[in-house]
Amino acid sequence: MGLVSTDTGHRWPGRRIPYVIDDTDFPEGSAGRQEIQRGIDLWNAQAPLPLVPRAGEGDYVRLREAAANLHSAVGRQGGEQGVYCDIGASRQQRIPGQRSQASPALAATGNSIHLVHIGNGSHDLWHSMFDGTKWSTNVRIPGQQSKAAPALATFTGGVHMVHLGNSSNDLWHSVFGGSSWSTNVKIPGQQSKAPPALAAHGGRLHMVHLGDTSNDLWHSVFDGTKWSTNVKIPGQQSKGTPALVSDGTRLHLVHLGNTSSALWHSTLGGAAWTPNVRIPGQASKAPPALAFDGTAVHLVHLGETSNDLWHSTFDGTAWTPNVRLAEEKSKAAPSLATFGGRVHVVHLGDTENDLWHSLIDQGSRNLAAAIVHEVCHAAGIMHEQSREDRDLFVTVHDDQIQAGQGHNFEKRTDSADDSGLYDYDSVMHYGPFFFAKTAMTPVLSPGPATGGFLGAFANIGRAQNFSAGDIETLHAYYPAWTPNTPIDGQESRGTPALAEFGGLLHRVHIGRSSNDLWHSVFDGAAWTPNVRIPGQKSKVPGALAAFGGGLHLVHLGDSSNDLWHSVSDGASWSANVKIPGQKSKATPALAEYGGLLHLVHLGDSSNDLWHSTFDGAAWTPNVRIEAQQSRGTPALAVHGGLLHMVHLGDSSNDLWHSTFDGAGWTPNVRIPHQQSHGVPALAAFQGRLHLLHLGNSSNQIWHSIFDGTWRPNVPVEGQSSSVGVGIAPFGSQLVMVHVGDGSTGLWHSSYTR
Ligand SMILES: [Zn+2]
Repeated sequence: MGLVSTDTGHRWPGRRIPYVIDDTDFPEGSAGRQEIQRGIDLWNAQAPLPLVPRAGEGDYVRLREAAANLHSAVGRQGGEQGVYCDIGASRQQRIPGQRSQASPALAATGNSIHLVHIGNGSHDLWHSMFDGTKWSTNVRIPGQQSKAAPALATFTGGVHMVHLGNSSNDLWHSVFGGSSWSTNVKIPGQQSKAPPALAAHGGRLHMVHLGDTSNDLWHSVFDGTKWSTNVKIPGQQSKGTPALVSDGTRLHLVHLGNTSSALWHSTLGGAAWTPNVRIPGQASKAPPALAFDGTAVHLVHLGETSNDLWHSTFDGTAWTPNVRLAEEKSKAAPSLATFGGRVHVVHLGDTENDLWHSLIDQGSRNLAAAIVHEVCHAAGIMHEQSREDRDLFVTVHDDQIQAGQGHNFEKRTDSADDSGLYDYDSVMHYGPFFFAKTAMTPVLSPGPATGGFLGAFANIGRAQNFSAGDIETLHAYYPAWTPNTPIDGQESRGTPALAEFGGLLHRVHIGRSSNDLWHSVFDGAAWTPNVRIPGQKSKVPGALAAFGGGLHLVHLGDSSNDLWHSVSDGASWSANVKIPGQKSKATPALAEYGGLLHLVHLGDSSNDLWHSTFDGAAWTPNVRIEAQQSRGTPALAVHGGLLHMVHLGDSSNDLWHSTFDGAGWTPNVRIPHQQSHGVPALAAFQGRLHLLHLGNSSNQIWHSIFDGTWRPNVPVEGQSSSVGVGIAPFGSQLVMVHVGDGSTGLWHSSYTR
């Protein structure tokens, strides 16, 4: 992910989101509440701002149910706000004019779903097709009747049906070739007391059915010409019709117990079926249904005692806890088919013989990830495909979007900023068919970019958890700064200079009202009382950097623009020496890079930027950095093998970025949407570049991270300063010291990540 609200005031204070779970929507002990808890646990396992039970906070989220309508406001709204999780996911619609007295059967081809069902009051078999938009009027299949539900599967381009006799347990086989059904043919020597299950797998059509009078399960295959003799599956019995689906590698069989409503799972990989294993915690009062969507095996079944429909998926290793399909009920087994990348469900009504059609959506597919998605919204994050740069990465087919849903695919350029690289794997990315008019043509297809993104297009809408990019974005949006604490007894009227040297963090700052320079040291716990550096004065703050076994200080004269250089061994300072031929009207910047100490400073009277290096013995003559000016001190830091510089505009508060590779400086580029009225500070820490600056007109301190691109800046909660801040990495912390907002007291804060 990487699209964050520009309204940073809607972030949550204290890096936490207080929550309550709605007790009516998700009663204590209910399956729904367990799902909500799974979502909270998934969030808290990685998010830098945890969900914490509300303890009187005025602003909090309430986790609520809303069928087929996951949503949440973006960012903290003030007071209570709902996070609607959609445990259910019903979009069921009645199939007009069709009724059945038994379970329907489904099979999908490339361009339609086929539905066959028996009549409402007869054993006639009726056939209808769904083209992605609507169901055709059902047509009676001539000359065929079945006393119970039929079974369907697609195999070698045709739709194959096996059904019971009109009054016998015989099994009959017929094929729909595209325009009509073949005359049904009795499968020799096979009978079943309940409808069979069919699935294509490994180039053959497989059938599993019950015995003529027993609950034994029998397996037979059709090679395109004839059915093999059926073989009993050892050790497996079912009191009702089994369900069968192939994942391309294995054939999955799920069936009821011999006498119980427990659900059992077995697979056929090579020649033999695995022993069946109980699916933990799941039971059904009617036969189950299966489908495979290219990622997971989907199971839908009735409740153990209710007509509710439950959904679970198998990822190749384990079944997810089942989740109720909200508002959907069926008095008999449902049927499933995968079509257009989505799992379709057709089932009877709760009490009547009407046929209902629905899609299993993202919410019920992985509720925990869906909760994470919605809480991301509450945290201030928007959909990935709404980024300003999205046209490079996805193509949006506006003509395929459901009426009234176009707003879901608009770019958010006013209210949000892109953060980091475009991330197909983001939990905030829609799938190809979200809000699609039909299940046949996607709304999203790949864009033209061949690089410069994270993840893979094939993963969109399938996230089971945060992506790595999601976590980076949350950390950048909620940076981990500690509240600042005063450094007792130390004051300065300017930006302090910080540098790690000899295992300690050193700070040099100008006096509160004098030009004296003061030195203090932090050992990780406390700052030492500051000590005046003897014999050195500067009319503005100095710059500090470790280089070549010494701590180097460069500062202006007491009243002149001359630049002076002094070195410390950590305890005492050498007498300062004037750097020949160099003058600056403002504090210079120092950094070690490529075995040299680099100095960048303003002109004596101009805003030009000049660059000079020190090799341990002498300073090179300074050279003007072409076409770059700054109205204040620039900031330097080394990151990714380059020396980075950020500086103000020549006369504006804009922030500009340039890098030096040892030979030359790149043209400077403006950092989007960031301004500062004070000088910026830059430091490399834990593989990222950190920029701290003031507001455009306020003294609020802002933080931005560069990890290849600049992430949107965010205010450092509760911290402001009259002038630019000092920052430096120190061990496992990034330390910031700044003066107060309107006062000369010094404050200390740290960032760890
Ligand atoms: Zn969303």
